[in-house]
Parts: sequence; C-alpha cells; structure tokens
Amino acid sequence: MRSSNRKIVYLTLAIAVIFIIYAFYFTTTKSSSDDEVKILFIGIDGADWEMIGSLVEQGMLPNFERLIKSGASTKINTNEKGGSAVYWTTIATGQHSKKHGIKGFVYDDPSTKEEEKIPYTSNMRKTKAFWNILSEMNISVGVVGWFITWPVEEVDGFMVSSYYGVKDTEQLTWKGTVYEDTPDMVYPDTLDDRIDSLIQIAKNRSYQDIRDIIKPSALKSTSLTLNEMKWAFVADEIYNEIGIDLYKEKRPRVFAVYFNGLDVVGHRFTSKSEKEQREIESKYGDVQRNYYLHMDSVVGQFINLSDRNTIIIVASDHGLMRGEHTNNGVFIISGPNIKENIFLERPINLTDVTPTMLYLMGLPVPEDMDGQVFKDVISKEYLDENEVVYIDSYGMREIAGVTPNRTQFDAEIVERLKSLGYLN
Ligand SMILES: [Zn+2]
Repeated sequence: MRSSNRKIVYLTLAIAVIFIIYAFYFTTTKSSSDDEVKILFIGIDGADWEMIGSLVEQGMLPNFERLIKSGASTKINTNEKGGSAVYWTTIATGQHSKKHGIKGFVYDDPSTKEEEKIPYTSNMRKTKAFWNILSEMNISVGVVGWFITWPVEEVDGFMVSSYYGVKDTEQLTWKGTVYEDTPDMVYPDTLDDRIDSLIQIAKNRSYQDIRDIIKPSALKSTSLTLNEMKWAFVADEIYNEIGIDLYKEKRPRVFAVYFNGLDVVGHRFTSKSEKEQREIESKYGDVQRNYYLHMDSVVGQFINLSDRNTIIIVASDHGLMRGEHTNNGVFIISGPNIKENIFLERPINLTDVTPTMLYLMGLPVPEDMDGQVFKDVISKEYLDENEVVYIDSYGMREIAGVTPNRTQFDAEIVERLKSLGYLN
C-alpha cells in the first residue's frame, strides 16, 4: 500500500517535470526570437584557408571548426582588381567596380598631383550596397567598420563607419580610424556618446590584449612595422567592442562587421623568404598564428550572441600567405537552410555574396548584379520551396558624388597606405 502510493507520487512528479520542461522549452523558443531568418556576417580581411586548415587540424580554432562542421565552406574567388577597398565594395554590392565606382584605395583623378591623392569615400559609390537594399525593404540592418563607409549612410538600423578608430600620435588608425571632429561617423548620431565610451574601453583593453599577439619584449620597439600592427589591432578591438555591444542590444536582422588586422599582419609579419620569416618570429613571435587565434575568439563572441534562426557567414576578400595575396580566401556559411559539414570544390565569387544573402532573406535578386545566388551551399529543401525571384534593379544611389569627401586627415591616411604597401 505505502509503496504503491509512493509510485503514484513519483509518477505524478515525473509528469509534472516533463510538463514544466516542455512548457519552458516551448515558451523560451517562442520568446527568444520569432521565426524570421537573420544573418550575422563577419568579414575578415585576408583570411586564408591554408592557415585556417592547418590550425583547425591542430585544434587551435574551435569556433572556426564548429562553423565549418555545422555548415558549408568553400574558397572565395577574388574576381576583382584594385585591392581590398574595391573587394569589400564588390562584396557589398554584388557588382564589379565598373558599376559601383570604387576603383582603389584613393581616387585617381588625372589632374590630381600624387601627393594630393584623396582616399575614396562612401559618397563615390554609385550603386546600392546590401545595407541600402535591406533598409528599403524594411529589413533592419547594422554595419560596423565596413570598408569605404565614411560618411556613414542612413539605414534602417545603425552604422558605424570605417573611419572609427583612435587618433593619437602613437595609435593612428585607418580602415578604422577615428579622427576626432570628423562628422558623420555614426548613424544615428544619438549613439555618439555610447560609441565614444566603447572606444575608450577597447583602447584600454588593447594595451593588454596585444601581449597575446606580439612578444611583450618586442612591444617597446618603435619600428614602423610594430606601429602599423598596433593601429590595426586597436581598430579591430574597437570594432569588436562596438560590434558586440550593438549586436547584442539592437538585434538587427542582418548584422555585418569587418576586421582588418589579419591583412596587416600578413603583409608585415610574414615573408616569402624563410630566413626573413625566422627573423620576424624570433623578434615578435608567431604573430600571424596568434592573430588567427585572436580572430577565432572574436568569431566565437559573435556566434554566441546569435540565435538559432541566424545564418552565420565568415568571409574574406582574398587569402594572404607569406606576405602575398592568394586566391585562397575563405567563405564559411552555417545555419538554417544551409548544407551541413561540406567543403565545396567550386569557389564562390566576391560578386555572389550579396545576391546569395538577398535570396536567403527572401528578397528578389536584381539582374544588374554581376554575381548570382550561390546555390551550392543552400539546402535542397529551401531551393525546392523558394524559386529565385528576379527584378531588373534596386536602382542607383541618388546621392552619389563625383569626387570623394575631404577630411583634414587625407594626407595622413595616404601616407599610411603607402607605408603599408597598399599604394605604389
Ligand atoms: Zn583585403
């Protein structure tokens, strides 16, 4: 009698527990997010499969590994010329430079003297980037640090332009440069104060964090190489801080963030010559490897904030090994409607990225984009249920200018580009 009573109590308890778990699961999955598909895009300039492959094999990039195993990966084919400023604009527009109008790092006006070259600015882009299209289609978007986005653009969401960084004598940054007193770096400008405080946090943290990347004993050096590395790193720390903060708080449906440090490291801390490579490593440590490890943790921070309806994309614009660009850049995509655990033979083109994102967001693909939906990474079920819908065009940008906007820091930026070997 007593034992059968106990059985009933246990049974009732068990049913109650199952019910509570079920109710909890049901309500949290309902409230954590609606069923809308989202995209988290992490752009890493110069990320190369050769390094990622080898470090993943050694178990040193757990977050890259997680993404690769859960999603579809392939090389990105740099079907463009003119350097990273052009490539990232090509990724963002799905069009070649002939259409989008950004043709290099600096505006090449034949009447301009060499020393008066002006960095390209966003008003020179003639065609719409994905953030313009999404905004017009009422899909919220957040963009942080993307190349050639100063002056910042009005979007349905927020944007922090590529000129955000820090300016002081030691840590002048570009591809992330805050030149104080330069307007139009943040949209909406109600975020200005918040961004300023995030910059301070990131800047302070970077003094410590850089010790994971460069041998602390080498940090006192005042070499140009080291200074370049410092500003690139501070810029990445700032975009990381701002990106995490705004992504967490604003939850845009499409969020994109760009990091430049791996490219700078590849250009300055690796070499074709094995002898030179050994010298660099004995002085500074294995800076390139350390930076990949750092980027893995950055990728992990963003992934951990995304929900289960989020398609995660990690992409570079080209690869970079032994001091030279390669055509071995990365494209990794994972999430709903994406194939799992597959490495594809066929590469995606820079121009295919935006058409593919538009299709995955349920939007029509414009015929005036040079790329196509890269179906190889998308699940058969999604392809079967969602025919690609084409339209002629999303139209041109009305505000496109004929010359770049000027800042009082143009000469400094051009100098820095030259010192990095980006200009001849
Ligand atoms: Zn690049």
